[in-house]
Formats: sequence, C-alpha cells, structure tokens
Amino acid sequence: MYYIGIDIGGMSIKTGLVDETGRLHFKKVFTTKPDEPSLIIISCIADFVKEMLAENALTLKDISGIGIGIPGSVDSKKGTVRYCCNINLVDVKLVAELSKLLNFKNIKISNDANCAALGETRFGAGRGAANTVMITLGTGVGSGIISDGRLFEGGFSAGAEAGHTTVMMKGGDECGCGFKGHWEAYASATALIRQTKRAVEKAPTSKLAELAEKGVTGRTAFDAAKQGCKAAQKVVRKYLEYVGIGLVNLCNLFYPEIVIIGGGISNEGDYIIKPLQRYANKYVYGRGYNPKIKITRAELLNDAGIIGAASLCMEQS
Ligand SMILES: [Zn+2]
Repeated sequence: MYYIGIDIGGMSIKTGLVDETGRLHFKKVFTTKPDEPSLIIISCIADFVKEMLAENALTLKDISGIGIGIPGSVDSKKGTVRYCCNINLVDVKLVAELSKLLNFKNIKISNDANCAALGETRFGAGRGAANTVMITLGTGVGSGIISDGRLFEGGFSAGAEAGHTTVMMKGGDECGCGFKGHWEAYASATALIRQTKRAVEKAPTSKLAELAEKGVTGRTAFDAAKQGCKAAQKVVRKYLEYVGIGLVNLCNLFYPEIVIIGGGISNEGDYIIKPLQRYANKYVYGRGYNPKIKITRAELLNDAGIIGAASLCMEQS
C-alpha cells in the first residue's frame, strides 16, 4: 500500500507516492494557475492524483491515505483552509471537496512547515527522536514542532509560528506578515539579502560588493565570507546570531532532542550548523545540567513536504 503526499505551492503542486517506511517511489510536479477559483484548484488537485495513479498503474484502492501540506492557515480537524499566501485556496472545505471528487475518505491536511517537520522527524534528520523542532530558513521562516512523537499544531491548528515571534522590541525590519521586529524579518533568506545589501553600501570596495554586482541572493554573503571578506563575515556572524536567538527561544520552550534546519540557507551545511550548535550550547537554559540539544541539517530537502504530508495519514493508522 502507498500513501499520497501533496505539497502545495504558488506555482506548482508536487505529488508523490510514499510507502510506510517514508520512501518516495514516484514524484511528479504539476504547474497550477494560482489565481483560479478555489474549487477549480481543488478539481485540478483531484485530476493530478488520478493522473499520477494512472501513470503508475494504480487505483485509489492501492492508497491508504492522502496528505496535503498547505502554505497557509488551516483547521486540520475540520479539513478546511482559511487562507493561503500564494495560491487562491481561501475559506474552503478542502478535505470534504477533494473527498467528494475522488470518492476517497482518508484525507488529511496541515500547514506545510508542520508537514516538513513531521517528515524529517519520522524519516529524515530527526529519526528516533520523540521531540524535535524544525526551522525552515527560506523566503520566510517556517517552524514545526513534534512533541512526544506527535505533531503539535496548537489551538485551531494555528500555533507553531515561531517566525512571527518578536525579537526586536521597538520598530525593526518589516516581516512578511506586515508587522515589524519579527524573527522572520531577521532570520529568513529575504532578511539576509536585506542585511547583505546594507553591508554592501557600507563597504563598496569589498569582495562582498564585488560579488553583489551579479545580484544579491541568500548565498552572496556566505560566498564572500568563505573568500575571507571581513564585511561579509560580519554579515554572516550577525545573521547567525539572529537565527540563534529564535532557535534558543524554541529550545527553551520545547527542549527538543534535535533541532532540524531546512530551507535554502541550510545548503550552507556545517558552515551554519557548527556556529548554531555552539550558540545553542552556550545559551540554552540549563547548560551543563541538561543533555545538549543537537542542531542538524535537514535530510529530505525538497521532498520533506511530500513525505511529511503523506505521513499525516500514517499517524492515524
Ligand atoms: Zn511576522
């Protein structure tokens, strides 16, 4: 038997066939028109599922469950989507509608960061741990929490949004949500790009400025820092401190055995993991008494969303 995992994004919908050991057997990425009416998008999702099954000579009788990761706010118990950031799934009974179209009952949904955390914990970097926190450093800052082996979603499935906790009391940079001073406004790749551009203005003759001429990305500061540029090293050091502040806050709240770092920035590997590990060792409450919390890089990378979504259904079985 297989599970289907669906990872919904703005421009594409990734679907995959996953077995109960978390292995991804087949993956297909469909493009979508994010501005279509919600019900049209849902009927496209149903078509994608049927197409993928047909390509693998399977039917829904071979499927134990379908899990969907949503880039927005959901009520996982009611199976409804309240809103999405970049695709028009708004105030819609996704599970009921999809269930009707496919004539299939076991469909579950959750926020995409939660799905990634669940996937990484069960089948990736968090294997064997009962308590983990996953932090995704990408366009925004996503977070997912596994507590005693179960996904923690909070009331109304609306919790675990560490990116929108405040790290700057007054003012501060603007977050993707519109408020100022949130962790995401300092620890996302978007934030790092902003910090890099500011540093370039201050050091126009640096290696950082030279690399920035090709366009600033989340890698620019890291690339220049590795080439010995002092201005870039300062940007990276400060950026990792920002990431570290939120990370330590999460550690003190949940005391996970493992913190898993994902998203585009995690491609820097040990270059960020080692300083973050040192930061956690130094600042997590109870150091010297409690066991150390391990900071590690995500393993499932782009497939975490699909595998995690599929495993939403495994939890219930
Ligand atoms: Zn925010």
